[in-house]
Amino acid sequence: KSTTVKNVDGSVNNTEEDGEEDGVELAANSLLNKLIRQSLVESSHRVEVLQKDPNSPLYSVKTFEELRLKEELLKGIYAMGFNRPSKIQEMALPMMLAHPPQNLIAQSQSGTGKTAAFVLAMLSRVNALELFPQCLCLAPTYELALQTGRVVERMGKFCVDVQVMYAVRGNRIPRGTHVTKQIIIGTPGTVLDWCFKQKLIDLTKIRVFVLDEADVMIDTQGFSDQSIRIQRALPSECQMLLFSATFEDSVWQFAERIIPDPNVIKLRKEELTLNNIRQYYVLCRNRKDKYQALCNIYGGITIGQAIIFCQTRQNAKWLTVEMMHDGHQVSLLSGELTVDQRASVIQRFRDGKEKVLITTNVCARGIDVKQVTIVVNFDLPVNSAEEPDYETYLHRIGRTGRFGKKGLAFNMIEVDKLALLMKIQHHFNSNIKQLNPEDMDEIE
Ligand code: ADP
Repeated sequence: KSTTVKNVDGSVNNTEEDGEEDGVELAANSLLNKLIRQSLVESSHRVEVLQKDPNSPLYSVKTFEELRLKEELLKGIYAMGFNRPSKIQEMALPMMLAHPPQNLIAQSQSGTGKTAAFVLAMLSRVNALELFPQCLCLAPTYELALQTGRVVERMGKFCVDVQVMYAVRGNRIPRGTHVTKQIIIGTPGTVLDWCFKQKLIDLTKIRVFVLDEADVMIDTQGFSDQSIRIQRALPSECQMLLFSATFEDSVWQFAERIIPDPNVIKLRKEELTLNNIRQYYVLCRNRKDKYQALCNIYGGITIGQAIIFCQTRQNAKWLTVEMMHDGHQVSLLSGELTVDQRASVIQRFRDGKEKVLITTNVCARGIDVKQVTIVVNFDLPVNSAEEPDYETYLHRIGRTGRFGKKGLAFNMIEVDKLALLMKIQHHFNSNIKQLNPEDMDEIE
């Protein structure tokens, strides 16, 4: 059966892979992104800012010192190895730390420093001497809540009396408990329960409300409404912040419903291009034939690191087994793995321990492995209407202009799929050369 799975970057592709809820897959990808993140993702675009009051001056900061943070917080930031604010933080932090507090909707791709920014805002507004919940952060899953909590703990390392508590399913607190932790991070359902049913959190005392991963949130059944119910009970002076990696209309509509009088910050992501990629195709009769063609170019592709894409899990598995059987060292990144397992496969690949990675569309997102110079489409990406999935094609083999190392792409094409390839060639207005797999010398 075929389902539509939305990518982290907002594009959509159809796979035969999972029948899981969109939100679940999105949340898993988002977590994967966090687990394998090593550094900031840069963008050469300018940050776009829309102020609620266009007449008020627009501040940006180039250093953390300019923010006049508590000393222990500044120490925590430097201990994390941050030297200066990221691009989005330059604009967002002055707004987030302003007096009186301002509301903010911010969108930028994952890895650009959003979490660090709102954690900083929470930590700077918390009063460690007051023992009740003051900051509330909503996240789509327990694991994502935990990741944010870890950032709070690291950045707040020197803010000794500030503590975090997780409002997530399974974390049972006896009714009537006086919650003394100042920062609560949780999923909407449990937070709602803690606030209204168990009365563990007094929402009228919340100073900072963060809604993280809004795009994942709205794709999860019930989370939008629960979040709005929570938001409605907050005091009007509470600072409200919303973050999203993508910004389709649905996210935007939700954001505007839940955040009153917001400033808006956006950072566009680097465009992908096929300009630096030499593209080839090999015409094959059937799957076995494709496999043979792959083996013929294998020596060539293992000069660097390669990712081989299949359209389905079954195909990816089949290919992995065949290749291993023939003595090739490959690893499989499959949707059947847990997120932790996926992260470790990606890490090993990044570390160069494996040279060839076999995967499907869904899994490969978030793998931003700059050293990958060779991509093989063992199957062309198609949508449910059996039309070429251009976005996924671009996503698999495209590179950002700025990191434009030269790359190679090979498409294994069954004769009856040649028309699809021609459409792709036409769509991108690029040249995909036919290759005789017996003659690798043809590759320039
Ligand atoms: P996002 O929430 O947008 O995905 P994060 O806040 O998680 O981004 O930041 C991505 C990565 O960059 C993390 O590893 C984080 O520790 C790091 N990071 C965030 N801000 C800075 C900064 N100002 N300087 C250096 N690294 C940073």
